[in-house]
Amino acid sequence: MKPFNFHTHSFHCDGSSKPEDYVQKALEFELSAIGFSSHAPVPFDNTWSIKPGKLSDYENDIRKIVDVYRNSIPVYLSLEMDYIPEVTQSFQSYSEKCKLDYTIGGVHLVKNPKNGLLWFIDGPIEGYEKGLKEIFAYDIKKGVSAFYSQTREMIETQKPDIVAHFDKIKMNNKNRFFSTDEKWYISEVDKTLESFKKHGTIVEVNTRGIYKGKTDELFPSVGVLKKCHQLNIPVTIGTDAHHPEDLNKYFNETVEILEKIGIRSLKFFKSDRWIDLPLN
Ligand SMILES: [Zn+2]
Ligand SMILES: [Zn+2]
Repeated sequence: MKPFNFHTHSFHCDGSSKPEDYVQKALEFELSAIGFSSHAPVPFDNTWSIKPGKLSDYENDIRKIVDVYRNSIPVYLSLEMDYIPEVTQSFQSYSEKCKLDYTIGGVHLVKNPKNGLLWFIDGPIEGYEKGLKEIFAYDIKKGVSAFYSQTREMIETQKPDIVAHFDKIKMNNKNRFFSTDEKWYISEVDKTLESFKKHGTIVEVNTRGIYKGKTDELFPSVGVLKKCHQLNIPVTIGTDAHHPEDLNKYFNETVEILEKIGIRSLKFFKSDRWIDLPLN
């Protein structure tokens, strides 16, 4: 199978280079399609999302590239949108404003419903631990449960096509605070898988944790992917590229892992819909 990538970040958000550099590299790597999914604007200062007011620059830039490469490679426009209850704009509003081809949802900040504070789970361990202490009073079970509950609420109310790296909460854990074998943790993951199943939402198999050396396992872990297979939940692969060189990182290895699990096809975006691409 030729690699593809629907999860990429260019210099419009926290990626390294201009979108065209990614498309050039995609051609060199013989990708069958590429989608841009910059972090959608959020209403607070940060170093990673598109700045409010710069969204149309992003949209126009990608549309130009779609045209330029029309006969070489399919290029799509998307956004990776954060869902934070009562904080972020609806996915539908972005989807309509930018006429997105497809939508990716992701939780990078967990809201404590009791105090409204946000726990950033995607940065270095120091910030993760500080947030856990200040926002959830070191109650890891509460923090992690809030992460999964927010993810389920995102699936149910925002209806993204794909959820990115849905067990990213494990990245900074590494058995420091909890074991993923604990009953309560498994129950949170299982409940979230039920949401995927119910809404036909695609699980993204995200390779970034592995090739950045931040995890030993994919997002989500192999055990969770086995459950996806049993439940017949659709999956796709994304490398979450922040640099053109990241575009195909750990793609082929992931295909092999999925084949071993017994997964037979991947979701692939073609023209205006998701189709099933057979694995061999
Ligand atoms: Zn993300
Ligand atoms: Zn991303």
